[in-house]
Amino acid sequence: MTANAITPPAATVVPVLGTDLLFPVRRIYCVGRNYAEHAREMGADPDREPPFFFSKPRDAVVPCGGTIPFPPATTNLQHEVELVVALGRGGLNIPEATALDHVYGYATGIDFTRRDLQTLAREKCHPWELGKGMDFGAPISPIVPISHNVPAADASIWLKVNEDLRQSSRLNQMSWNVAEIICRLSQYFSLAPGDLIYTGTPGGVSTVSAGDVISCGIDGLPLLTVTLA
Ligand code: MN
Repeated sequence: MTANAITPPAATVVPVLGTDLLFPVRRIYCVGRNYAEHAREMGADPDREPPFFFSKPRDAVVPCGGTIPFPPATTNLQHEVELVVALGRGGLNIPEATALDHVYGYATGIDFTRRDLQTLAREKCHPWELGKGMDFGAPISPIVPISHNVPAADASIWLKVNEDLRQSSRLNQMSWNVAEIICRLSQYFSLAPGDLIYTGTPGGVSTVSAGDVISCGIDGLPLLTVTLA
């Protein structure tokens, strides 16, 4: 007979809107520079640098937002509102033509970034974990199953800090669409049910402080609100 040496880590789950179902999270993948406007504000050329991938730890997920602690070791915490894809089926080398069959649903998410640490990592060609992988760094709204037929291809995506509009764009401004992202990502990793993909942020990222209330949304998906303690 065997037993756990320690208490097992808590499962990470996200509610499915309008049901009693929970979506268990396996991995969090993220797309960098997937909107031309954001690539430019990061000092990159959107026509020359294709989007790329990084990941966050599963337990960075903050289901349904709420109040989170201000992260340590940064003086430049920034918000990035993003469409999140929740996978219901996995695979390796998924063809673009059938990639959307692998989607369980969609949500609104925030890819919080310690921009000072990320910028330093970029300059030194170091990994991005310190800038991107912190605790509470991946808030997400409830997941809406694809049967709801949302969001529309041209849905608006926006983010406010204390009622001040900071990010505002449309999903059709993404450099790579969801099918292309799944296809490309599956050339590097075996994707699996439970994987979340944060698909990149539009322009307008800005620095936030303790006490700020950050609210964001995508037409057709639930609102997401996060307060920084
Ligand atoms: Mn991002």
